[in-house]
Amino acid sequence: VAQASGVRRSFAGTVVLDGVDLTVERGQVIALLGASGSGKSTLLRILAGLDDEATGEFTTTSSQAVVFQEHRLLPWKRVADNVALGVRSPDAGERTARALAEVGLADRGRAWPAELSGGQSQRVAIARALIREPELLLLDEPFGALDALNRLKMQALFGRLQAAHGFAALLVTHDVEEAILLADRLLVLDGGRIAESIDVDLDRPRAVDSPGFGALRRRL
Ligand code: ATP
Ligand code: MG
Repeated sequence: VAQASGVRRSFAGTVVLDGVDLTVERGQVIALLGASGSGKSTLLRILAGLDDEATGEFTTTSSQAVVFQEHRLLPWKRVADNVALGVRSPDAGERTARALAEVGLADRGRAWPAELSGGQSQRVAIARALIREPELLLLDEPFGALDALNRLKMQALFGRLQAAHGFAALLVTHDVEEAILLADRLLVLDGGRIAESIDVDLDRPRAVDSPGFGALRRRL
């Protein structure tokens, strides 16, 4: 559902991405890790089609939805209207209600974004993505701004939604535990390239000091 090969991007002569290759298969969750400034958000924006200046080859399914670290809800629209934004189908109302129920906000459709907590706002952002029934979710530190308890709740919610809907996801995160919990594979961006690729196999738990994770830790 996403494929990139030799993706390059510079800003004012500084190379940020220097030949990135990656593949996201149908239903696969990939965590993208890397130090601050390593180009994670840049890569995600490129895959989301929000960057006109990247070079290389990259394609993603047209059925994709993006969730940013900050929820980016429109403050002048009620929660339900934010979720339904751009959805043109006769059953948009029903789908909105279902998406809000799935994120535990069945009763908040009439609320204004300013009336929600940070965690609730991020739930709305996820409902807004879900209503499109995407094959691919692109998420840029979606839980990064939340307190520890809300982050745990959102990680659990994400896991349930992914199991129920089977969407593929590219999840940018700073949080190695979150990556191991939610992803099938961890990719580490370093020096403008994917420097490590580590499969997470829960049936064969890997010690955190095994070579894969050691390499990962050194690059963060
Ligand atoms: P963080 O973990 O802090 O979110 P990141 O891995 O997402 O970091 P990016 O936001 O992709 O990093 O930025 C990578 C590099 O590209 C940084 O050095 C940043 O300053 C630079 N950069 C990103 N966007 C722009 C821009 N629009 N103009 C100039 N430089 C940019
Ligand atoms: Mg970023």
